[in-house]
Formats: sequence, C-alpha cells, structure tokens
Amino acid sequence: MTFQQPAAETLPRHPVIIGGAFEAQGGGEVLAHVYPGTATVTRELRMASPADVDRAVAAARAAFPAWRALAGDKRRDLMFKLAAVIEAQAQEMSPVLTAENGAIILAGGHMSSDAAQKFRYYGGWADKIEGRTVATWGGPAHDYVSYEPFGVVGAIVPWNGPLFAATMVLAPALAAGNCIVLKAPDLAPYSVMRLVELIHQAGFPPGVVNLVTGGAEVGAAMVSHPGVDKIEFIGSGATAKKILANAARTLKPVGLELGGKSAVLVFADADLQAAAKRGLSGAVSANGQGCVNGTRLLVERAIYEPYLQMLAAMAGHIKVGDPFAMDTIMGPVISETSLVRIAGMVERGVAAGGRLVTGGGRLGGDHGEGYFLPITVLADVDPGSEIARQEVFGPVLVVTPFDSEEEAVALANDSDYGLGAYVHTTNLARAHRVAGQMQAGQVQVNGAGEAMTPCVPFGGMKYSGHGRLGGVEGLREFQQVRNVWVNLQS
Ligand code: NAD
Repeated sequence: MTFQQPAAETLPRHPVIIGGAFEAQGGGEVLAHVYPGTATVTRELRMASPADVDRAVAAARAAFPAWRALAGDKRRDLMFKLAAVIEAQAQEMSPVLTAENGAIILAGGHMSSDAAQKFRYYGGWADKIEGRTVATWGGPAHDYVSYEPFGVVGAIVPWNGPLFAATMVLAPALAAGNCIVLKAPDLAPYSVMRLVELIHQAGFPPGVVNLVTGGAEVGAAMVSHPGVDKIEFIGSGATAKKILANAARTLKPVGLELGGKSAVLVFADADLQAAAKRGLSGAVSANGQGCVNGTRLLVERAIYEPYLQMLAAMAGHIKVGDPFAMDTIMGPVISETSLVRIAGMVERGVAAGGRLVTGGGRLGGDHGEGYFLPITVLADVDPGSEIARQEVFGPVLVVTPFDSEEEAVALANDSDYGLGAYVHTTNLARAHRVAGQMQAGQVQVNGAGEAMTPCVPFGGMKYSGHGRLGGVEGLREFQQVRNVWVNLQS
C-alpha cells in the first residue's frame, strides 16, 4: 500500500499577488515542488523575480498612507473578518498544509484555528494603539510619545511552519498599521499563498498585503530594497547572518526568530509519565522540525534509566507514516538532503559514545518512498558533542544525566542557542528558581507546546535571535517611537 498523494486541484495557484491582482506566475525560476510523503512533484510554479519584488514594494508603499490612516476600529473589524474567513476555510486548508511539507493532517485544524486566533488577538490591539504623556523636566512643556508603524514590512518565513510563522508576523504588523511584502518559502509555498488569497477574500484593501513566492534571491531582493522599512525574518542562523550583512547597506532594522536546541530538565520529583510524554513531543512535534522543540533532555540520575525506558515505550506507540491518514502522529522530514544530514548526525552521535535507546537509520517499506525517519533517542550523550550542540531539525532526542540542580542549570545554559527551556518538577520553589536562571526566551514549567498562544511573547536569546513576536511585545516589534515636546512658554 502506498501513501496518499496530494490532490493538485486543492492547491492554490497564485505564487504572486500584488496590489490585489492574483498572478498565475511570477517572472522568476520554475519550482517543481516536492511532497515529502512520497517524494513526488505536486506542481510546477513559476516563482517571483526581483522585479516582482520591486512591484510588490511599490504596491505596498502606495497602499500605506490610507492603511495607516484607517481608523483602528476599521482595521480591527477587517482582522476579525479575516479570522472568521480562515476558520470557515479550515477544512480546505488542512490538505494544503500537509501537501506543502508533510505536516500531519491531524494538526491542520489546530493550525487554522491558531492563525485565526492571532488575527483576533491583534485585531483587539488595532483599536487600542495609544501613546502616553511624559512628565517633563525644565520649564513648562507638554511632551508625548506615539507609536508609529514602520511603513512596509518584509516578512521572510521558513518551510517548517509557514502559516504559523507568517501569521505570527502579519497579525501584529497589520494591527500596528504597516503594509506587507510576504515571501512564501519555495520548499513549502502553498499555505502562505492560500493565506494571502483569504486576506483578499476578507476585504483587505489592495496592496496592504502582497505575496512573492521564492527562495534566497527573492528574499535578498526584499532585504536590500530601499522601499522596505523593516525585515522580520524567521529561519536559520546561517541565513540570518547573510540578511544582517545585506540589511546593513540600507541600515534596515531586522527582527530575528531563529533556531534552537532547547533543554528539557527532568527532576526526580517530576510526574514522570507526563514528563516523558512531553519530552517525547520534542521529537514528534512538527515531525521533529519545530524551532522550539525540546530536543536536549537533561534527566536526574535517580530516574534516568526508568525515564529512558518510558520514552522508548511511548515512542513505540506513535504511528509514523502517511501524513494524510487521520491516525498518523508523525510524518516525514522535508527532503532527502535533510534526511541524510540527520541520519549522519545520529551516526556520528553514536560514534561519539551516544547509546541508541530507540530508532536510528531510515524507515523502509512504504515509508521508503518518502523521507521518513524513526523517532530516535540517544542516551549518555556527551554535552560537548556535535549532536548535543547543533540543531538537528529532525525526530531526534539527545539525553544526558545530571546529579544536582546546579549541574542541570549549567548544562541547560551551556548552549549557543536560547529559544525555549522546559522544566519538569513538582517542587514549586525549584520551578521558579530554575526558570529564573534559564538563558532562554521562553521557559515552560510542566509544559510542552501549550505556551505557544498569540498572547505571550515568543523569541530567542543568544543565537536564537532577538525581538519578540506575540503579546504586546509583538506589537511593539512593528512600531517605532515618536516623541513630541511642545514649549508651553511662548
Ligand atoms: P532558512 O534560513 O534556510 O530559510 C528561511 C527563509 O529565508 C526561506 O524563506 C528562504 O527562502 C529565505 N532565505 C534564504 N536565503 C536568504 C537570503 N540570503 N536572503 C533572504 N532570505 C533568504 O531556514 P529554513 O531551513 O527554511 O527553516 C528552518 C530554520 O528556521 C530552523 O533553524 C528553525 O529553527 C528556524 N525557525 C525558527 C522559528 C522561530 O520562531 N524562532 C520558527 C520556525 C523556524
């Protein structure tokens, strides 16, 4: 039995949308998009070119004065309408999400509802953008601060969760009064293409959100464009370095949401079943390709072996397979290149002394048509080894024992990254004490992904980036501050 194929007729058809015009092709390269579940081409798309980026920026700039001037309650209403349109289209969106990167169909409904909630949350901010007055020094004066949009925001998002990432940027940026040029990622373009269709269906004015589908060349054209006022980038650290160098030419501000190697600290006093289930989700969530997945497990020695056995037993019950099947919990990784890279890291991890508790290798049989890896748990991992320090971006957990709280904290912070941290304990004082020492942008105590809602700030420290998306901090990311001082003496 072979796995299901995506139905080409369900996939969106417009890789470029500029000034409200839906274009069947861009002026750039032809992309043969590959579905990773069966390694087959879904469709060929002619993507955008740098000249299309020029047109998209011009359309966004033309739309900006009216969008910025639109009263907050009108922006709010449009965003609420968009949330309703996204929810009404959730069933149609799910196969699009699966087709673009092999995300399990079971997660599709949640992805749409998360997107809708972001537009509701930030729609609620759009009519509450207020400044403040400042107590002045010196002679009589009136001083106030206002929060202004940047103008045109360029949004560059990755393939692993394009809808999630795009809405994380668009909702606060639009609420703040910015116009958008959004790049859909070439490896997984479809959900972002559909999102921009839905934005127009909801009645957003032409040019407020413009779409260019493409790869590095299109992204670089956005970054260097003098008509783009701010870049928000979600992706890898390696690309972020190129973007910062490119943005320096126009002194453009850049928000960075990058990768992670998030630590999971499991203390002996934790609810072990719950901590194992949540620990395993670090391998399974987003088919192991989530930026904030907890993939570096640190486990107190007293419970080390029982915890490993629990992880292995639970992994055995997870169905890995056809992403279109409703009972599948984990699908493929994005590409053959990615699969080979991950398998190589696991092999080197074993060679460096890691003990394979479960997994390893690639899956054969029907799975062999696509890019499937088993859930892999590697124990006794040297914290200095490659697999303990580099982002794997696949269904792989590395586990290392610790003997004291101090050692656990030191090991957790001994990383270039600082995106997430997870603390499992039933000791309240320890929970706060340890959380307060984590060098990570988001700490979850006895949680896995539950904190990832639109109302909380999300982002990284260290090599995981800077700036925050989500919450009021996410709104501030897309506002610049103006201070006005008025002399009251003459
Ligand atoms: P990537 O850096 O290869 O690509 C990200 C985006 O940048 C893509 O759209 C790509 O086309 C574009 N791009 C590539 N080169 C460019 C250039 N020179 N100029 C401008 N744009 C360019 O990352 P990826 O492989 O697509 O995504 C995986 C990475 O993203 C992982 O490291 C993951 O942890 C990270 N990520 C972070 C978050 C977060 O919120 N912190 C969320 C999801 C993914």
